[in-house]
Amino acid sequence: MLWSKLFLPTLRDTPAEAEVASHQLLLRAGYIRQVAAGVYSYLFLAQRSLLKIIGIVRQEMDAMGAQEILLPALNPAELWQESGRWDVMGDNLFRLKDRFHRDLCLAMTHEEVVTATARGELRSYKQLPQIWYQIQTKFRDEVRPKSGLLRVRQFIMKDSYSIDLDAAGLDAAYRKHYDAYRRIFDRCGLKYLIVEAHSGAMGGSQSHEFMVESEAGEDFIVMCRNCGYAANREKAAAHSAPPSAPDPQGDLAPEEFHTPGRKTIAEVSEFTGLPESSQMKSLVLIAHGKPLLVLLRGDHQLSETKFAAVAGDPAFRPAHPAEIRDAFGADPGSLGPVGVSLRIVADLALQGRRNMIAGANRDDYHLRHVTPGEDFQAEFMDLRQVEPGDACLSCGAPLDIRKTVEIGHIFKLGYKYSESMGLHVTNPAGEEVTPIMGSYGIGIERILCAAIELYHDKDGMMLPPAIAPFTVVITPVNMADAAQKTAAENIYRACLDAGVDALLDDRDERPGVKFKDADLIGVPFRVTVGRKVTGGAVELVERRTKKITDVPVSEVAAQLLERLRGSHAD
Ligand SMILES: [Zn+2]
Repeated sequence: MLWSKLFLPTLRDTPAEAEVASHQLLLRAGYIRQVAAGVYSYLFLAQRSLLKIIGIVRQEMDAMGAQEILLPALNPAELWQESGRWDVMGDNLFRLKDRFHRDLCLAMTHEEVVTATARGELRSYKQLPQIWYQIQTKFRDEVRPKSGLLRVRQFIMKDSYSIDLDAAGLDAAYRKHYDAYRRIFDRCGLKYLIVEAHSGAMGGSQSHEFMVESEAGEDFIVMCRNCGYAANREKAAAHSAPPSAPDPQGDLAPEEFHTPGRKTIAEVSEFTGLPESSQMKSLVLIAHGKPLLVLLRGDHQLSETKFAAVAGDPAFRPAHPAEIRDAFGADPGSLGPVGVSLRIVADLALQGRRNMIAGANRDDYHLRHVTPGEDFQAEFMDLRQVEPGDACLSCGAPLDIRKTVEIGHIFKLGYKYSESMGLHVTNPAGEEVTPIMGSYGIGIERILCAAIELYHDKDGMMLPPAIAPFTVVITPVNMADAAQKTAAENIYRACLDAGVDALLDDRDERPGVKFKDADLIGVPFRVTVGRKVTGGAVELVERRTKKITDVPVSEVAAQLLERLRGSHAD
């Protein structure tokens, strides 16, 4: 490829709307342009890089024996109604109507179509196991698209689905994916963590996420540096740090006190002079149409995922003020557990506490000396998010919380879709049984974004060779110099002949401009063809280290091949 013929619209300045590094650099390096909020055009360099990522994913999926298919992005509502997700997905699902006013959606995942396809065709255990995958465009109606390609409304995913006769079969399919994902992300040159995850709206049991640590991420993971425990914050469990002040001792009775205008935990803490951890936080949530009172320590946050699992309702919601008034006789800000007839679930951090502060269920009043198990009864369970400073359940060491970008996710779906949508096969005994399924995703653009977040400097991207749009850019310092021009063209052809993906910067630009652009677009190697060429040498520059080596013109391609082999061995 000749740079002079390409559309590579690089920008000198960082676009004001971009906050995270990958968004800034994808715009500056001319990889992408925004078309609408969360919708982007992928220009030449982005598409080349994404195709290389897709190539690696496809090779590894094929190698595990998965079969590539392509399912429609446009889905009829009926399939999603059958699984129950037409309602559960809420506003995240793009919905539309056809000319006959029939409901359709743009799929964000394909469990429904896979199950519907399988149930018409798979009849016997002899046809199992199956693993089907696709690399396809998905849609998600994000409330706040942001961070460039990290949170978008249209994106490319590799998604695969396993169908097995029994749990042992599912274990094997899950393991295959786990191993293939490691090979894929290793080959893409990423540093990543594998964490236990909650499967959320997908349903199912076991689940792992593949995460890249980055400030640009929006997922939080909890990690123990001592024993290696790692889990998504929504799922992670820990020993809570002790409350900031000891509880008053003794068998004290609840006592009402006036708290005019103090509604939040922080306001009551300031008013009483006691830390937030001395209070109970009361949340009223509606699950399966009924209100529940959820109690947490004042300084703790609810894990919505844990609560959804406890309540058995992923579509739970906060109660409306009128519903709260009905159930408690008071407004939010003065709610508490004493004298309440609702189901009460309380976080484990409240078990064993004494004489705490809670709302009095009377506007502008609180109670002191409220003791769980004495002044009210509750079911105790783990409902909260892990906080910094909590202790590891396994080893007691303090836990770290880090921001990450999710690049892959594997789930055991179990029987959720095969059961609700009626997928059955006969087993060896001739009985009709329900197969068990798994679902596995990789975000293609996220691999590129995560690589940029991990590997960039003030001058631009430093992409791993396997996913860079080109491996080498050959830069003659002066195209008007015949010797330089000829040497550059010879090196370019030798690279192509050797299978090295080369770009020739034949533009009539100042060398400084060419070097800046080459650094910006993240090509791992640059060959500078300058005055030394009269002595038969050129400079080989490594983008990451900026290290320069003089190399004979005739040996450039061989040297590059050798360095690429070295980078694979890393
Ligand atoms: Zn630990």
